Amino acid sequence: MKELKDKGLFRQQCLIAGAWQDAASGASVDVSDPATQAVIGSVPDVSGAETRSAIKAAQAAFGPWRAKTHAERAALLEAWHGLMIEHVQDLARILTLEQGKPLAEAAGEIRYGASFVKWFAEEARRIGGTTIPSPTPDRRIVVLKEPVGVCAIITPWNFPNAMITRKVAPALAAGCTVVVKPSEFTPFSALALGVLAERAGIPAGVINIVTGMPADIGTELMANETVRKISFTGSTRVGSLLMRGAADSIKRLSLELGGNAPFIVFDDADLDLAIEGAIVSKFRNGGQTCVCSNRILVQAGVYDAFADKLAARVSAMKVGPGTEPGVEIGPMINAAAIDKIDRHVSDALAKGARVLSTSPAMPEGKQYATPMVLGDATPDMLLAGEETFGPVAPLFRFQTEAEAITLANGTPYGLAAYFYTESLKRSWRVAEALEFGMVGLNTGAISTEVAPFGGVKQSGLGREGAQCGIEEYLEMKTFHIGGL
Ligand code: NAD
Repeated sequence: MKELKDKGLFRQQCLIAGAWQDAASGASVDVSDPATQAVIGSVPDVSGAETRSAIKAAQAAFGPWRAKTHAERAALLEAWHGLMIEHVQDLARILTLEQGKPLAEAAGEIRYGASFVKWFAEEARRIGGTTIPSPTPDRRIVVLKEPVGVCAIITPWNFPNAMITRKVAPALAAGCTVVVKPSEFTPFSALALGVLAERAGIPAGVINIVTGMPADIGTELMANETVRKISFTGSTRVGSLLMRGAADSIKRLSLELGGNAPFIVFDDADLDLAIEGAIVSKFRNGGQTCVCSNRILVQAGVYDAFADKLAARVSAMKVGPGTEPGVEIGPMINAAAIDKIDRHVSDALAKGARVLSTSPAMPEGKQYATPMVLGDATPDMLLAGEETFGPVAPLFRFQTEAEAITLANGTPYGLAAYFYTESLKRSWRVAEALEFGMVGLNTGAISTEVAPFGGVKQSGLGREGAQCGIEEYLEMKTFHIGGL
């Protein structure tokens, strides 16, 4: 910690108009290490008034920032990316301290987060427009792309770095300025990004970071007419609240919300590949990802073999503090997360599920969840209806392809889905039948800066990453030129 403080990366103030500040009221929120519950620091608990100042600062910076050439903005993003890569290990350490995930995963998240900065630095140079053939000879029609304006960026605790860069990088590349509100559980990763942005030469006011409890900040971000867009990643409950709050001033919205991903294993699957995919997609970040496999649907012919192999892998997992070498499952984010997992598991056991794995050696501490495989899961169980957000893999048995599709789509969510088969025909049939924004065939890894990321149904609106990610921060202006 001392080293991180000496390097200036562990900041306990928020960033408004280029100034590092405490809350005017002096109020602060403690942040604790999920592995020990020890307080690692505190951040200002800012009010609506300070949020208003941050919005004003973003508005003041907007004119000069949008006036820069695309190449100038790209160069600043490239410099920010360079600093993130230079400080991968420092940023990973901060992330693990406040979020709990294993250090190697945290370093992976920093590289993933940095990849969006690089990608959108490149995309900044390619913001074009279109010309449209005129219906009359004396006119010309051109469509210009312009930045949306001041954007509010609200992010969750499960990817405290990458969920910010996936939004801030395209916003800045497009010429927008931002007010970032990170999760109150993981503000230090956001503040460290602010330090590096400042060092990269990104001008004061372009990135503002407000910290603290969400109610007052959220109310101001929703109501303030200067904020032209809200980009949110988090729960469907809060997403829907923000959508209602943004309605009065008709703000643009991007919503990356919860999921309930099915992971389907057909009889003709490569089972070893499917086990690897299940481990990656279910247990990464201790099962606390929005694209986590939440329901593992296995066809009757391979159910027992798959269950045995998965149970063996899970029983051998190493659970412990994220800072300890070799740990695969770190602590859960907070006590509420542990309660939810316990509730899901007891409900499943009461309704007939069976634990198929044995418990790995568990460390001391209140916030560790035992990784487990549950057999005989059924759709009436709590864990079938909502994200468990923990290292629990429930196995559902199915007989036919049609039954698997009905089960998979039987959720109001539509973020990610995975399936395993060696049949080409089935691959296309199933991919087309799944009502999800992202589908993985024979892979459990679907997150990359080069491909669109986002959901359908109650999993959200809009897409991040890829070429389309920058469009979320651009308006079209149709320019009609007459009298030629
Ligand atoms: P959350 O909705 O509780 O909080 C997300 C953010 O919203 C936090 O910064 C929080 O402080 C803020 N917030 C809460 N109430 C607010 C209000 N009234 N006004 C303004 N902001 C408010 O979600 P979480 O628990 O931090 O994250 C986990 C959830 O995020 C899961 O549902 C997960 O699936 C989802 N998620 C989705 C994606 C995706 O890309 N679709 C990615 C990661 C996480």
